[in-house]
Amino acid sequence: MRQKIVAGNWKMNTTLQEGIALAQEVEALIAGVNNGAKVIVCTPFIHLTEVKKVLKKAALGAQNCASEVSGAYTGEVSAAMVKSTGAEYVILGHSERRSYYHEDDAMLAKKTKLALANGLIPIFCIGELLSERESGKHFDVVKSQLEKGLFDLSEEDFKKIVLAYEPVWAIGTGKTASSAQAQEIHKFIRDTVAAKYGQAVADLIPILYGGSCKPSNAKELFENPDVDGGLIGGAALVASDFNGIITAF
Ligand code: PEP
Repeated sequence: MRQKIVAGNWKMNTTLQEGIALAQEVEALIAGVNNGAKVIVCTPFIHLTEVKKVLKKAALGAQNCASEVSGAYTGEVSAAMVKSTGAEYVILGHSERRSYYHEDDAMLAKKTKLALANGLIPIFCIGELLSERESGKHFDVVKSQLEKGLFDLSEEDFKKIVLAYEPVWAIGTGKTASSAQAQEIHKFIRDTVAAKYGQAVADLIPILYGGSCKPSNAKELFENPDVDGGLIGGAALVASDFNGIITAF
C-alpha cells in the first residue's frame, strides 16, 4: 500500500505568530483522525523551527531549498539548514518557483540531489500550463520534467521521492482537473516511472494532486487508484478546510 499524503503549502502567507496558531489548530483537528493519511505542513523558512515545536502528528516541510551547498549566496537557505530545523520534506519544482524565479530542470535536479543528500524528502512538482494542455502537450511536458529533473537519480534515491502533479491552470484559480483528467495523467506519470525504474518502484511512489483541491472535491479526486493524496495551497490556510481534505480519504 502506498502512503496517502496530504501536504499543505502555506506559500508566503502568515506571520510567525499566525503560522504557529494555524499549526496548533491543524494539530487539534487531526488529533482524532486515524485514516492512515500522512499530514505535512510546508511553512515559510522562518516558521520552521517554531512550528516544529507545536507539531505532534503532522510532519514539517519547507517550500524550497538552495541549489548550492553553502557559502556566499545571500538570502538562500540550504538543504542542510532546512534539515537542521527538524523538517523532513521540501517542496521542489513548484510552478511558482519555475515561473517567477526561473528555476529550470537542471537547477531542480541539483536541488533534489542536495535535499536527498541531507535526508530531506522532496515533494517534486510537475505540471503543464493551460496552453500546453490545450495543445495536447501535457503528457510530453510532465514526461520531460520527470526525465530532466529526476531520472538521473539512482533507484535507491528515486524511491524516496513524493511526486505532485499540479496543472498550472488549476493552481489558485478555482479550476480543478476533473477526476478523470487527474487519473489519466497520474497513471501516465506512474507508467513513465515504471518504464524507467520498474513497476515495483512506480507502485511505491506517492503521486499527489494539486490545484484548487478543497473539501468538496477531494474525495472524488482521492478515490482514483493513482491519486495518493493532495498538495494543497489556499485550503491549507484554513484549518477546517485542510482537515476536511485530510478526512476525505
Ligand atoms: C499549490 O500551489 O501547490 C496549490 C495546489 O495551490 P491551490 O490549492 O491554492 O490551488
